[in-house]
Amino acid sequence: MKINIFSVGIYFVSSIFICIFVYEQEWYKLLGVLLLDFLFFYHRKYMEKIYLNELENITDALEQMFIKKEINIKYENTDTLSDKILTQIHRINAANNGYQRLLQHQKDGIKKLLAEISHQLRTPLANMESYLTLLEDEIHVKEQREYFEAIKCSEAKIKFLTERFILAARMENKIIQIHKIPSDLKETVAIAIFQIYKIAEMKDIFIEVIDERVDKCIIEHDANWLSESVYNLLDNSVKYSPNRTCIKIFLRTNEMFSEICVEDGGIGIEKDEENKIFQIYYRGKNISTEEGYGMGLYITREIIKKHDGFMKAKRIKQGLSISIFLPKTGTN
Ligand code: ADP
Repeated sequence: MKINIFSVGIYFVSSIFICIFVYEQEWYKLLGVLLLDFLFFYHRKYMEKIYLNELENITDALEQMFIKKEINIKYENTDTLSDKILTQIHRINAANNGYQRLLQHQKDGIKKLLAEISHQLRTPLANMESYLTLLEDEIHVKEQREYFEAIKCSEAKIKFLTERFILAARMENKIIQIHKIPSDLKETVAIAIFQIYKIAEMKDIFIEVIDERVDKCIIEHDANWLSESVYNLLDNSVKYSPNRTCIKIFLRTNEMFSEICVEDGGIGIEKDEENKIFQIYYRGKNISTEEGYGMGLYITREIIKKHDGFMKAKRIKQGLSISIFLPKTGTN
């Protein structure tokens, strides 16, 4: 606690007077001094209270500004220091809000522009693809074939990137609409296997489905989007597994959830990465030459969230296990 020199001085002088008046038995004067002391003491307490209130108002206003709430501390346009500080806080807050709005506006603009560019790229890319297919049989010289393959590979990369980008933009703008229809998960998984089968075969990777469900359960889901999700998991498993390995797809149920679990014997992930791999643009520490953009699992989890489900990744002895859990509510 700070000692106020002025107050100590006042109390010191008044004590001297009190001693003198007691000594001289001047009772009226003594009463007067005591009354003055009393008034001085209460005036100080009153001023302290006002001062603390003003400080509290200032800290409340600052707190509301930090947690981005509307500042509702009132102030009067007086000349007091605290009102001046409150006015300044309101002005800083208004400027900050304006700046945030501008930033958001610019961010939305960039997103829109990128989405637009991706859309515009689709037609020329489709044209390129058609002409490349037409050219394919016409190239017989070895050197020309190498160039041709390089162009084809670059075209595939640009296409992959734009498609993924369009998908991500749609997810963010909540354009993806999930239409749930009751159907068997096994059939949806089969669609995904059908799409990946050829690529897996090229690496001599065997895909096995193990149905551990006790009851045949029909789940309300969007087969298109869910098969896309399972495809993303299988695509990763094939990409991050060596040749001649096996991918197992387990179908399980419990009282509340249906589970699709994809297990592979690939490179796996590091210990602290189980949650990180679902973040957008995140790429694992184990990867070396495998190409990718770190969007597949992010999009997959967004699709599953829209089904009111969740995902879990687990490191296993050799490889990775990723599960999709879907609620059984609305099942038959
Ligand atoms: P990408 O595969 O394009 O990098 P994803 O979002 O599909 O993006 O995956 C994010 C990261 O998660 C990958 O970079 C990889 O490190 C890790 N990952 C995903 N699936 C597997 C898997 N089956 N085996 C090993 N690592 C995986």
